[in-house]
Amino acid sequence: MPRLRGMDIAIIGGGAAAVGLLDALTGADGGGTVTVFEPSAALWRGRPYGPDLDSVLVNAPPAIMSIRHGDPGHYAAWLGARGDAHLDERLGQPLVPRALYGEYLEHTAEKAVAELRERGWRVEVVAAPVVGVARSGRLTLRTGDGREHVADQVVLCVGGGRPHDHYGLGGAPGFVGDPYPLARTLEDVPPESEVVVIGSGLTAVDVVVSLAARGHTGRIGMVSRTGVLPYVWQRPGPHRPRHVTVERVKALLDARGEVTLDGLAGLLRAELADAGEDLDVLLADLRAAWTEDPVRRLRRQIAAIDAPEIGRRVLQETAHTVGPYAWRLLPEHDRDMLRGWFRVASGVASPMVPVNAARLLELFDSGQLRVVHGVTGIERVNGGFRVDADRVETAGLVVNAVNPPPHSVPQAAAALVSSLVDEGLAAAHPTGGVVPADPRLHVVGDLAGDGPFITSGIPGVAAQGAMASRAVLAPVG
Ligand SMILES: Cc1cc2nc3c(=O)[nH]c(=O)nc-3n(C[C@H](O)[C@H](O)[C@H](O)COP(=O)(O)OP(=O)(O)OC[C@H]3O[C@@H](n4cnc5c(N)ncnc54)[C@H](O)[C@@H]3O)c2cc1C
Repeated sequence: MPRLRGMDIAIIGGGAAAVGLLDALTGADGGGTVTVFEPSAALWRGRPYGPDLDSVLVNAPPAIMSIRHGDPGHYAAWLGARGDAHLDERLGQPLVPRALYGEYLEHTAEKAVAELRERGWRVEVVAAPVVGVARSGRLTLRTGDGREHVADQVVLCVGGGRPHDHYGLGGAPGFVGDPYPLARTLEDVPPESEVVVIGSGLTAVDVVVSLAARGHTGRIGMVSRTGVLPYVWQRPGPHRPRHVTVERVKALLDARGEVTLDGLAGLLRAELADAGEDLDVLLADLRAAWTEDPVRRLRRQIAAIDAPEIGRRVLQETAHTVGPYAWRLLPEHDRDMLRGWFRVASGVASPMVPVNAARLLELFDSGQLRVVHGVTGIERVNGGFRVDADRVETAGLVVNAVNPPPHSVPQAAAALVSSLVDEGLAAAHPTGGVVPADPRLHVVGDLAGDGPFITSGIPGVAAQGAMASRAVLAPVG
């Protein structure tokens, strides 16, 4: 590893992405500084992994929740026997409360900080937001309290931010604009009240199962434009992709000079054919997401948790491993096509955990829960809310569970991002997010404008963090 002298590194944002980056930096001997800027109380945990109800679970098995890129066993080793109390029997894997996963992130960050200090780095956490960066020979960061900090390398790890208020309900009594922590936002919800949850993705599932865990008896509606629920995790199997791999995508590029969706579909077709499966069957199932009754679909997927077919497992895994590489090579019209499938693609890449799926199905079957699609507006009327959708709904409480799409600029980073663009350090990407326009700036996480169209999970931010650490260290490497 290189020996660095006097390099000052600034990491803006202190969530999971920053932890992956710090962990990857630990191999370097130093003499410089690492300063992490994090204004919130969620240091090292970011938005998802703070203290919350036990019903708020991680949404993936341990092998893909390691924050150390290249070491898939890192989180499982930390978890050890603690996982036994959180076994999802259908998945055959521990799925812990996200707050417990947050402890793992804290532990990993604290170890990384200690190791960096041992190697000669001065590491500091500044509890203030960065609101601007200026070129000054080096880079000068300005924090919200008016102070300045000089750096040689700056890494943005600001995450994706909080839900947007699509229906202009902010401030209305009975409207929860950001559901987390659910321990606080659901605390005063009367158990018999009618609740509408905006969205039908993983956050909406968190809200519904948490209401149920608190003994809610009132009716709950999940309202969204599409009404599409995420898929349900299948038990991990022994199959390892042989066709849908980065190497094979590279080979496509070399042989044809381009990588298209058709080319990628060809790799998937070959993968499935080797296992005696038909890609067209899988594609028909994906297309049916728009039309099939969501409860019927959920029931079918719960029945398929142990199914031997590899098709969806391969798609799920490679969306995160091969997807980010392949995405950058696709022509714009293929990317546009995929963006149109955002809802379904997200549901395949990040399925819901079986324990939540089973709970949801119980609630559907009892008539307490329903999915309402085609929502066009939600208004405050007569002390409650009216939802205009395929049918009109009313509710006393509305919980917003629609996360911003990837490449959104978090509100907390809006001034910072404008300043980076104004200074010519970053460029706004035409489809959202930013890309660095200066070799001293790096972006880790969903703000990266050239990154994939689906939200990065932990393996994605860990991989980006490791890549950023190499780039940060490169000037002296
Ligand atoms: C509710 C939820 C649950 C999820 N669960 C899972 C899961 O179980 N498994 C999985 O693989 N993925 C999950 N994800 C995906 C998630 O995106 C990643 O797991 C990961 O948390 C992203 O980390 P991050 O550091 O990029 O962003 P964040 O965790 O959002 O952290 C960004 C940090 O930057 C700070 N910040 C913002 N602006 C500034 C500024 N101007 N100055 C200084 N600091 C700033 C914020 O305060 C925040 O703490 C989940 C996502 C969400 C939203």
